[in-house]
Amino acid sequence: MSNKAVLVLGGGWGGLTAANELRRRLPPEYRVVVIEKQRNYSLRLSNLWIMAGERTNPNEGDRELSKLTTKGIEFLNGNIEKIDAASKRVEVSGRVLEADYLVIALGADLAPHEVPGFPESAYNLYDANHALRLQRALQEFTRGRIVTLITRTPFKCPAAPYEAAFLIGSLLIDKGVRAKVELALYTPEPQPMPVAGPEAGSIIQRMLEDANIPYFPRHTVRKIERESRRILFDGGETTYDLLVGIPPHVAPRVVREAGLADSSGWIPVNPATLKTSYDGVFAFGDVAAIRLPNGMFLPKAGVFAEAEARVIAENIASEVLGGEPRSRYDGDGYCFIEVGHGMAAFTSGNFYASPAPRLKFEPLSSEHYREKRRMESLLLDSWF
Ligand SMILES: Cc1cc2nc3c(=O)[nH]c(=O)nc-3n(C[C@H](O)[C@H](O)[C@H](O)COP(=O)(O)OP(=O)(O)OC[C@H]3O[C@@H](n4cnc5c(N)ncnc54)[C@H](O)[C@@H]3O)c2cc1C
Repeated sequence: MSNKAVLVLGGGWGGLTAANELRRRLPPEYRVVVIEKQRNYSLRLSNLWIMAGERTNPNEGDRELSKLTTKGIEFLNGNIEKIDAASKRVEVSGRVLEADYLVIALGADLAPHEVPGFPESAYNLYDANHALRLQRALQEFTRGRIVTLITRTPFKCPAAPYEAAFLIGSLLIDKGVRAKVELALYTPEPQPMPVAGPEAGSIIQRMLEDANIPYFPRHTVRKIERESRRILFDGGETTYDLLVGIPPHVAPRVVREAGLADSSGWIPVNPATLKTSYDGVFAFGDVAAIRLPNGMFLPKAGVFAEAEARVIAENIASEVLGGEPRSRYDGDGYCFIEVGHGMAAFTSGNFYASPAPRLKFEPLSSEHYREKRRMESLLLDSWF
C-alpha cells in the first residue's frame, strides 16, 4: 500500500537539501516530511567565525525549521526513537509514522565523554556555545601554549581543525601577542586531510610550518588531565594552557540501535545511489560510510551530503513518476581552508577516482575566502 510520503530523518545540511529537492520534483499529493529534534537550524561552519571573534551571537545564522511549511514541506519537531528499516516505519516521541521511502540524514553525534577529561578540559570547537566561550578565552590569552587536538577519526569537515589553528594564529598576530604564544596541533591522522592525498597533505604541513604551528601526526589521545593541564597519548604526553578540541564522533544512537550501522560504526550504502540494504531506504551525509577505492572513507562534510541528497531526490522522483532512477553520485567534492586575514585555500576534485582521489589544490587567495563566506547565505537561501 502506498503512503504517498517520504520521511526525511534529520533536518541538517543533507536533510534540508533532500527535502527541498524532493518537494520540487514530487507530485503535490506526495508528502515530504522532515523529522528533526531541533526547532532551529544552525550551519555550524560559523563556529570558526564565532571562535575568531567575528560573530558574538552564536545563533546569528539560525533559521526556524517550521518555515519549511511555506514551501510545502512538513516539519515534525521530535526525537526519532526507533527506525524499522524493513517496514519503513519510525517512532517519533511515541508516535509511529510510515512511508514509501526513508531518507536517513541523521549526521554524526559528538561524544566528548569518550575521552576521559575532555568535557571538563577542552573547548569543544564543534559546539557553538563552546566556540563563544573560546572566543572570550582567546581575547584574554596573552602568553602560553594553545593546543588544537583532534581526538579521533572520522570527524566532520577534515579541514576545520586546521582552519581553527590557522585562525587562532592570525588572531594572535592581530592582538600583537603571537610571539609570546606557542601553538601546536595534535592528531591521530598520518597527515593533514589524508584522503586528499600526500600532495595536499604536504602543502598544508608547509602552511603550518610557515605559520609556526608545530604539527604532531599519529598521536591518539588516551586522556586529558585538567589539574596538571596534560594530554596523555598512546606513547608520550604534552601540556597546554588552552585546549581546543574536536571530540570523537559516533552515529546517533537510534541508528546504532536499529542495526543499520556496520563494523565501521556508520551506515554502509551504495556509493553511487546511497541505497542501504533495505528497499526504499537511503542513508547519506555524515551518517553514511562510503569506502573509497584506496580503502579510506569519503570524508564527512556538508558538500558531500548536499550532492548525495540531489541524487537520492532525483531517483525517488523518477521512481514515483514511473521512470528509471538513473542518477548517480560521481564522488565530486571540494573544501575551503580558511587561514585568517581574508585568505583561504581550496581543494576540489573526484573522491571516487581509482586508485585514489584525484584532487587539485589551489593556493591561498582572497577570492576563495569570499567564496567560502558566501556559502552560508547561499545554502540558507536555498533551503528556507
Ligand atoms: C566547525 C565546523 C565547520 C564545518 N565546515 C564545513 C565546511 O566548510 N564545508 C562542509 O562541507 N562541511 C563543513 N562542516 C561539516 C558539515 O556541517 C557536516 O558534514 C554536515 O552538516 C553533514 O550533514 P548531514 O545532513 O549529514 O548531518 P547534519 O547536518 O549534522 O544533520 C543531522 C541532523 O539530524 C538530527 N538528528 C540526529 N539524531 C536525531 C534524532 N534521533 N531525532 C531527530 N533528529 C536527529 C540532528 O539534530 C541534525 O540536525 C563543518 C562542521 C563543523 C562542526
